[in-house]
Amino acid sequence: MNHVCVYCGSSDSVGEEYDQLVEAFANACVERDIGIVYGGAKTGTMGTLADTVLEAGGDVVGVIPESILERETPHQSLTRLEKTETKEQRKERMTELADGFVALPGGLGTQEELFTVVGQAKHGHHQKPCGYLNVAGYYDPLVQFLDHAVEEGFVSSEQRQLILVDQQPGPLLDAFENYEPPIQ
Ligand code: AMP
Repeated sequence: MNHVCVYCGSSDSVGEEYDQLVEAFANACVERDIGIVYGGAKTGTMGTLADTVLEAGGDVVGVIPESILERETPHQSLTRLEKTETKEQRKERMTELADGFVALPGGLGTQEELFTVVGQAKHGHHQKPCGYLNVAGYYDPLVQFLDHAVEEGFVSSEQRQLILVDQQPGPLLDAFENYEPPIQ
């Protein structure tokens, strides 16, 4: 795996423990020589992620749409910053650049991004791993919901296997590296 795309929070109002958890994930990627593709911002845990990877000597590619650039300054010290016209083009470019997609704790934007790539995998548009780093039990209710959706018959067990979940960065990255797509 060369690059993993990371979706995570843009909010600066979350507890410090989330920054520490993001740092642990960032360091696990650098140890494995896995570069990061992300949304290009300096704010929130996104900024912590980029700073930690860069400080540890890793590779960080930001992909940011012009609409966000008009409102906010992107991170200035990335390995590379790519600009797109629209948010949709940003998502497409991130999908091309990355070999897997992981959501760290985040808000609505993070869920939208992860479910977009899971939906693409469901339809066979790519066979790359997608998953959640469920640190601090943040995603417990979502994981329960996904299992409930399988029990109720709305999601097949094959589709459920498209979403990997682990509480620790190392085992999640192991699962990404050993991933066998359940849907071709
Ligand atoms: P949220 O989870 O709602 O905080 O949104 C964060 C996700 O949406 C990130 O993974 C980004 O790719 C994208 N995003 C949201 N806000 C920004 C921003 N200000 N700059 C860059 N990307 C953003």
